[in-house]
Amino acid sequence: MKLLFRGKFGEGEVPAPRARDMPLLGFLIRIVFIFLHVLPGIQSWGKEGHYITCKIAEGLLSGEAAAAVKSLLPEYANGDLAAVCSWPDEVSHRAHWRWSSPLHYVDTPDFRCNYDYCRDCHDSSKNINRCVAGAIYNYSAQLSTYQNPNFTGQYNLTEALLFLSHFFGDIHQPLHCGFLGDAGGNAIIVHWYRRKSNLHHVWDTMIIESALKKYNMDVSMMVESIWTNILEDWADYVPSWESCGVNQTVCPNWYAAESISLACKFAYKNASPGTTLGDDYFFTRLPHVRKRLAQGGVRLAATLNRIFPGVYSPLHPLAGTYPECSSTSACDRENLSTC
Ligand SMILES: [Zn+2]
Repeated sequence: MKLLFRGKFGEGEVPAPRARDMPLLGFLIRIVFIFLHVLPGIQSWGKEGHYITCKIAEGLLSGEAAAAVKSLLPEYANGDLAAVCSWPDEVSHRAHWRWSSPLHYVDTPDFRCNYDYCRDCHDSSKNINRCVAGAIYNYSAQLSTYQNPNFTGQYNLTEALLFLSHFFGDIHQPLHCGFLGDAGGNAIIVHWYRRKSNLHHVWDTMIIESALKKYNMDVSMMVESIWTNILEDWADYVPSWESCGVNQTVCPNWYAAESISLACKFAYKNASPGTTLGDDYFFTRLPHVRKRLAQGGVRLAATLNRIFPGVYSPLHPLAGTYPECSSTSACDRENLSTC
């Protein structure tokens, strides 16, 4: 079993990226990316997206999981997971939490519409496991120590719950699994109707905001309408969304692979730099945004239901240990021609 990062993910263990190690263009793009990331609400699904994902998950928790979640939530959440699902974005620009910034996304090589954990899941200093998929493995493993007397006090499970819930939202936003060269669409400047924006922000926030405005809805009405889809149109698919394979508690690699595929087919398509995106783009992409919010919520609940079986059993394994990555991986990071 691989050793898990203790407490805060990698804090103090992983050196900060050094600018001189990066090629100039990559460095400049990353600077733009970091700049965009420090602005509130730009780092992932906006507040609304995370709220919706977590609200859907709350409605699908088992009794045991709901009780465990309630016991771990900070007091100011008033028992509502959705109310604190944006917390990792709110703190990531602060010095104390800056180590967590690379955990909100994963980059794939430019113009490759596939994803490979061993190739892609690292930060800019090539520290393996430091991406959104690795973070989901890490925090689900931490949460699986809940009520395990051998781990009492070893992890901050409140932080683990908030990070895990947030990252389930992020990994379902297609451009959180986008190309390295454009920082997941952050470097693609477009107009969203009349407003100057970037493609990443369009997918984080603008499509959802425009939907709320055009259909004269508030966020809770949007949650309700996505619920209707889950119970009717998507009902046949929900069991496969919840499923994670035999003996698997958590399966973020599936979600990341889906996201980069959607990014290529729908997010990047017809959205080159300088494009004005309007009704055509909005109406064809909104159904995908709604479905990803639904999948994020359904899968977060299914995962928490697997993590919190109710009673601690010595036989219950840690939920998510990292995939093994060997230097002879078929899709080695340094040798993309094999991918
Ligand atoms: Zn985020």
